[in-house]
Amino acid sequence: MIYIHIPFCRSFCTYCGFYSEVAGEEMFRPYADAVCKEAEARADEIRDTVGTNTLYIGGGTPSVLPLSVLSAIVGAVRAFGPFSEFTVEVNPEDIVEKGPEYVSGLMELGVNRISMGVQSFDDCVLKWMNRRHDSARAAEAVRIIRSAGMDNLSIDLIFGIPSLQGQSEDSADEVWKSTVRQALDLHPEHVSAYQLSVEEGSALESMIKKGRLSEAPEELCRRQYEFLCRELSSAGFRHYEVSNFAIPGHEARHNSAYWRRVPYVGLGAGAHSLRGTDIRSWNSDTIPSYEPSSEKLSDEDIRVEKIMLGLRTDVGADAAFLQESAAPGSVSRLLDEGALERVGDRLRIPEDRMFVSDEIIRELL
Ligand code: SF4
Repeated sequence: MIYIHIPFCRSFCTYCGFYSEVAGEEMFRPYADAVCKEAEARADEIRDTVGTNTLYIGGGTPSVLPLSVLSAIVGAVRAFGPFSEFTVEVNPEDIVEKGPEYVSGLMELGVNRISMGVQSFDDCVLKWMNRRHDSARAAEAVRIIRSAGMDNLSIDLIFGIPSLQGQSEDSADEVWKSTVRQALDLHPEHVSAYQLSVEEGSALESMIKKGRLSEAPEELCRRQYEFLCRELSSAGFRHYEVSNFAIPGHEARHNSAYWRRVPYVGLGAGAHSLRGTDIRSWNSDTIPSYEPSSEKLSDEDIRVEKIMLGLRTDVGADAAFLQESAAPGSVSRLLDEGALERVGDRLRIPEDRMFVSDEIIRELL
């Protein structure tokens, strides 16, 4: 199970706190060389993780890379395949600019799943986010991806956008409803939807600090999340993780393995890895060369991770493990309150409490 981080973007989104650099094309080759060298040096570690044979190229914006550079990177890990799921993250603008040949080129490299950062189908919201595409281009990108024959597409959306230009909460809700409906009209196999959060170092954080914007009220975020859950459920999606929905059979295998704490190798600047069950390692975020660090996780770290990751999913956590490792009395109290439910020998958070999953999980820790 391999993750490769591509830390380049063409511009910065308002809300972004991820590590990325504005693309300077002269950096692409040296960076690809550094990733290839790292893959070679960590071959044994990669071999230890191939039981879950997925490859995920994320960012940043991997689609800023020309196919030739992406191909060199994929070449360095091809020997560890074949990959049952090979995902690449793309931005709509790159797909529209590069056209169907680019998507076909990705598929020739072995890509069988595309995850596209659309975020909104409202042009004012997209402009505020400083995204490079508009809603028409996002729809055009989906048409291009489909025309190349890609049949596994995930769309990312963001809800809980603060009121823009004196907009009422009702109109913010209408904008979100229209975004969800337009996303569904494009028939993606998978949707990931995240609540806007104020990331350290983001432009959004500085707007809020300067008092130019207020965060969206919790109630508005809850309404929008509940609308999303209802619409996607009616459209046949399985809500299999707090932020992830899939047409059954199209659940992300790679991400699902993270939630089960399967070991994985993260290559590239800023990428994290899990070796065995208890060694977490990560690369510094300097490019083109970066340095590794690692730490041994304590039993307490592992307990917390297992509870947090398991309870974000609709398969939940093993009931015996949770009874034994959660804060005393918390499991039975949450069961009584309906904040946990039993399914066979597992416990999970019911869908109608998913919005407050972080609070429920905090009570168990
Ligand atoms: S949100 Fe994605 S595309 Fe936007 S700046 Fe961050 S990493 Fe780049």
